[in-house]
Amino acid sequence: MDKIDEMTVSLVDTHAHIQAEEFASDIDQILERARGAGVDKIIVVGGAGELSTNDAGLELARRSPWLFATVGMHPHDARQVSEEDLTWLKELTQDPKVVAVGETGLDFYYEHSPRQVQRELFCRFIHMSCETKLPLIVHDRDAHREVARLIRSEGRDMVRGVIHCFTGDFEDAKVFLDLGLYLSFSGIVTFKAAQALREVARKVPMDRILVETDAPYLAPVPHRGRRNEPAFVRLVAETIAQVKGLSLEEIARTTSMNTRTLFGI
Ligand SMILES: [Zn+2]
Ligand SMILES: [Zn+2]
Repeated sequence: MDKIDEMTVSLVDTHAHIQAEEFASDIDQILERARGAGVDKIIVVGGAGELSTNDAGLELARRSPWLFATVGMHPHDARQVSEEDLTWLKELTQDPKVVAVGETGLDFYYEHSPRQVQRELFCRFIHMSCETKLPLIVHDRDAHREVARLIRSEGRDMVRGVIHCFTGDFEDAKVFLDLGLYLSFSGIVTFKAAQALREVARKVPMDRILVETDAPYLAPVPHRGRRNEPAFVRLVAETIAQVKGLSLEEIARTTSMNTRTLFGI
């Protein structure tokens, strides 16, 4: 990437777990590289693995004006969450640095927590999103229909949010778009075998697209299989630009605008 390009592009990584211990030793360099790649905001998503990733993410976000936090609990770990934990998480949403509830949702592929436990916790976070008026960051793996059903029945048309790391087909996409949700694309869209997903990305309207890394997971090509980091969101945006026949600047501008509309940042 040349210097002029770096300066004109302004991207948002809307989903990164950079409070994870994988980044503990070199977080400053990670942030520097993100800036160098044109990333000017990062949403540090809580709730992956441990409940403590929520306050850890918030603490990290408080240190830099361009970082923001979310609070939630991944469906993998749904069975760990107590009533007290939920009360604590709801208190954290009052912090001005917290811009969303999540991640939350359903994962019927790995099913690390029983489906019914996942459903119940997801409903609680849908309610929290409605009560706090914060958007919802939804994880959906092999559960498209149920995710849509619960958002419809529990959210009563009040839920604003995003299906993060979207991997469904265009029929699934349409269901979520009809619910007013955004779709966020990750490094998966750069994978060689992901032709169908690129086709979906091509068809999703520009005013509903977000980009993310889900770092440290899902590094885009050519970093696939290694630790992911926010700087690589640029590779996701470049792929979206390619499939839509638009410039990277255009993708950056529109996804940044969508971030502002959804998260208020
Ligand atoms: Zn996820
Ligand atoms: Zn995640």
